[in-house]
Amino acid sequence: MGIIMAAHAIVSRKVLDYPIRILSDSRSVLQALQSYTLTSGLIYECHKALSEVCTTNIVTLQWIKGHSNSRGNDAADILARGGSELKVAGPEPILPLPYAWLRNMLRHNTKVKHQQYWTNLGTCRQAKEALPTINPGLSRRLRLLKRPQLRLLTGAITGHASLNKHLLTMRVTDSPLCRACMEAEETAAHVILECPGVAEYRAQYLGSPGPLPEVVGNIKGLLGFLEELGWQE
Ligand SMILES: [Zn+2]
Repeated sequence: MGIIMAAHAIVSRKVLDYPIRILSDSRSVLQALQSYTLTSGLIYECHKALSEVCTTNIVTLQWIKGHSNSRGNDAADILARGGSELKVAGPEPILPLPYAWLRNMLRHNTKVKHQQYWTNLGTCRQAKEALPTINPGLSRRLRLLKRPQLRLLTGAITGHASLNKHLLTMRVTDSPLCRACMEAEETAAHVILECPGVAEYRAQYLGSPGPLPEVVGNIKGLLGFLEELGWQE
C-alpha cells in the first residue's frame, strides 16, 4: 500500500523526467514485484501504479532496514499500524490470506470433521473398534496392496468375512459360535486376539498382539495369519 500511495503521489504531482528512489523495508514485496508472475491483487495494483510512474521517470526500488530512522519509512510504519487498527467496512478478511494457510486450514478442518463423523457414526461398530481414529498413513499403505489382500484385511477390519457371527447376521448359519474353540462368538476380534484354537498361528504371525488397532497396523503379519487360517477373498 505504501508503494502504491507513493506512486500515486508522484503521478498526481505530475513529476516528469526525475530519477525516483522508493524505499521499502519489505523484502517480500520487492521480490514479488520482481517476479514474472503476479499472484496477489495488491502486488498487481502496485505494479500498475509503478508502471505509470515509469513511463515518464526512472524509478529505483530499494530495500531499507526497518526501524532505521528513515523519515519516510517510519511514517509508513505509523500509517500501516493505524491502518491495521481501523474498523473494516466490508466482508472480512480484508488482507488476502496466504494460499498455504488456507490449504492447511482446509486440511485440518476436513480431518476434524472426518474424525467427528466417524466417531459419531452409529453403524460400523466392528470397523470402529479396529480403526478408532482416522489414520492416513495406514490408508496409504493399504492402497498399495493387491485387491485380494485388501479384501482380506477389509474383512478382518469390518467383520464382513466368512465368520459365524457375520454369517448368522446374514442368516447363512444358525450359530454365532467360533468353530475353533466353540467358546465365544466368532468375530474378527475374537479370532485375531483371543481364540485359543488358533493360538499357535497367532504367536507365529502376530507374536503376542496388542489391541486391535495395533494389530491392523501390522499389515504383513495380519495377512499371513489370515491366509494361514484359510480366509479367502
Ligand atoms: Zn474361538
